[in-house]
Amino acid sequence: IIQLIDVHKSFGALEVLKGVSFSVKKGEVVCIIGPSGSGKSTLIRCINALVPVTSGTILVENIEVADPKLDKLALRRKVGMVFQQYNLFPHKTALQNVMMAPMHVLHQDRGEVEERARALMKKVRLTGKEHTYPGELSGGQQQRVAIARSLAMRPDVMLFDEVTAALDPETVKEVLFTIRELAEEGMTCMLVTHEMNFARDIADHVYFTDRGVIVEHGPPDTIFSAPRDPRTQEFLSQVL
Ligand code: ATP
Ligand code: MG
Repeated sequence: IIQLIDVHKSFGALEVLKGVSFSVKKGEVVCIIGPSGSGKSTLIRCINALVPVTSGTILVENIEVADPKLDKLALRRKVGMVFQQYNLFPHKTALQNVMMAPMHVLHQDRGEVEERARALMKKVRLTGKEHTYPGELSGGQQQRVAIARSLAMRPDVMLFDEVTAALDPETVKEVLFTIRELAEEGMTCMLVTHEMNFARDIADHVYFTDRGVIVEHGPPDTIFSAPRDPRTQEFLSQVL
């Protein structure tokens, strides 16, 4: 469902991605781990066309993301993304936040959008908080609204970039629970995470990146229990 072929990305003279290739199959859960600054966020932003690649090919289903004539709306309908910062609209209620894109971007019928938004609020376990404003929700609750908002576009793939990094330990669990449920329902997920236990538990495949390259990848048991590359070994010895 996602394929990257020799993707390079530079910011000026700084080469952040140095030839990254991999693919994600439908229904797969892929985790990306690696040191700070290794290019994980850049990689995930390239897939969603938030950052243009310097060279290489990214395919999301049949959409060529690097195509200058890219239909961004078509891509956004396929790929949902959740960031560390929730970026909810502060003057809209939780339910309104979830309803916004389908109403104003896709111009769908309000009644249907609202029904679906309420179902999504239930799915992320926020029934009762529909009319609450983001400022009155905990970080974990806001993050779950952000997940519901992404799901409202009915994406085929969800990208998560360190979505629990800014949260208190207690609320991290709720958000990971929601992601786990999504993954178990068969949603294709690509996660950048510092939660190694979660990655080990949930991932079908783990990629370790360092300085713009994929150093090593494999099933979680192999990567976490028997990493081959010294860079992976060193990183894991620091975070585990
Ligand atoms: P972290 O674990 O800290 O989130 P990361 O692996 O996500 O790190 P990136 O955010 O992808 O790393 O950044 C990789 C490198 O690219 C860093 O050196 C960063 O300073 C640089 N970089 C990222 N975005 C930009 C930008 N818009 N302009 C210039 N440099 C950038
Ligand atoms: Mg990052």
